[in-house]
Amino acid sequence: MPDTYLTTTIPYVNARPHIGHALELVQADVLARYHRGRGDAVRFQAGTDDNSLKNVLAAEAAGAGVREFVDRNAESFLALGGALSLTVDDFIRTSRDPRHRPGVVAFWRACAGDLYRQRYAGLYCTGCEQFYTPADLHEGRCPEHGTEPEQVSEENWFFRLSRYAAPLREAITSGRLRIEPAGRRREVLALIDGGLADFSVSRPAGRAGGWGIPVPGDPEQVIYVWFDALCNYVTALGYGRDGGTDGGAYRRWWAGPGHRVHLLGKGVLRFHAVYWPAMLLASGQPLPTAIFVHDYLTAGGRKISKSAAGADLLEPAALAAEYGTDAVRWWLLREVPRVGDADFTIERLIARADDELANGLGNLVNRVVAMIHRYRDGRIPAPAPVPPGGEDLDAAIRLAGDRAGAALAGFDFRRATAAVWAIADEANRFINRARPWDLARADGGADGGVDGGARLDAVLYLLERACSAAGRELVPFLPDAAARITRQCTPLDGRLPAPSPVFRRLAR
Ligand SMILES: [Zn+2]
Repeated sequence: MPDTYLTTTIPYVNARPHIGHALELVQADVLARYHRGRGDAVRFQAGTDDNSLKNVLAAEAAGAGVREFVDRNAESFLALGGALSLTVDDFIRTSRDPRHRPGVVAFWRACAGDLYRQRYAGLYCTGCEQFYTPADLHEGRCPEHGTEPEQVSEENWFFRLSRYAAPLREAITSGRLRIEPAGRRREVLALIDGGLADFSVSRPAGRAGGWGIPVPGDPEQVIYVWFDALCNYVTALGYGRDGGTDGGAYRRWWAGPGHRVHLLGKGVLRFHAVYWPAMLLASGQPLPTAIFVHDYLTAGGRKISKSAAGADLLEPAALAAEYGTDAVRWWLLREVPRVGDADFTIERLIARADDELANGLGNLVNRVVAMIHRYRDGRIPAPAPVPPGGEDLDAAIRLAGDRAGAALAGFDFRRATAAVWAIADEANRFINRARPWDLARADGGADGGVDGGARLDAVLYLLERACSAAGRELVPFLPDAAARITRQCTPLDGRLPAPSPVFRRLAR
């Protein structure tokens, strides 16, 4: 049973969270729950990137103190855990967590052989917190933000990234560092082959408003927020504390033989698949074992903007409060493709939940439990062979776990949920074919009663198996719904509980 360390990126807290943040958290939670369910030891870490210059500017724009502003927004990210039923084991806030700063300082010192100071002039996007070359820009504007970067000339510390092209390439091509999907892996290899320039890893303290972690031995400079932020994956494990890297958590989760998996969005691929592994190599640490890159969500066809009208309606906690945690998780898992952007609308959230959860799965469980009550006094019939016409459903039940597991191994959440959904889909089809109500009539009739009774038992037994399997297989994806379904399918004193809806319909 390998240990699995799962991390999400730590977002800037220059605003409250939106639905795009929920995607990565829910994906990571599914993996965490799935692995725990198989008996693997899991550590699931999330957090917030507090030390960004972007936070400073947003606080100023809001007329708030930086500390107060950052704390308030970070709090709403932390609250997503409850709203989305996340099983986060550890949540690190880079400005507040006592584990972080000493770890970053130790990391910096461990990289010292690859750090040097140099004057630099370039185009800087504060939104991205990075320098761009003119070739990176789209018509002179930041490809991420559409804003014009500012010309900056300053003296900074640089990291000798150029030295790591060959070892990075080797780690990726050998599969030691797996990057999914394959298109992203090719993108990273192309970046490496295009030549890796050294990158700046500090900023003048003045420009950062004093916010951030001072460079060890050079208090006029603060550590570049990306260097600082990336370190969170190991500082939360105790890296560099007590003057060494021998903390128990670090040794187990980062230096151990298990999996180290980062989830991230395509916009920060270069940082995670090039800068971060190079920093780890420079400081003599193991690399992550896998990086999974998701694309972006849009809302109503537009880029999700924190300031747009109605942005508060796209807050995951508000969505979960209004439509339920299950509906929000289900939309993210069922509609967002492994490759390509997805467009979120409330209408799609409602349609998906009503079609598949309320009408598909919920209706199935309700009908089956009701029939077992009506025809068998709430008692599940004894195990019986699969009745004619039930083969596809039987296969869907037997294969769901393996299919979902294989899909999750490839970070394909849509295919994984499709395997579970197939149980409900096949079961509803089977009911219409097997027509238990006709069998019940024959069961009670004068002729063929025994035969009808045995067939009805076999049909109800298979359907009950389907509902129980759906409850079991749904656990990583919709933990709350899974618990309700399992409760409906578990006899108390020999009889199933009276049928009650497991999902409410959302459409008015
Ligand atoms: Zn930008």
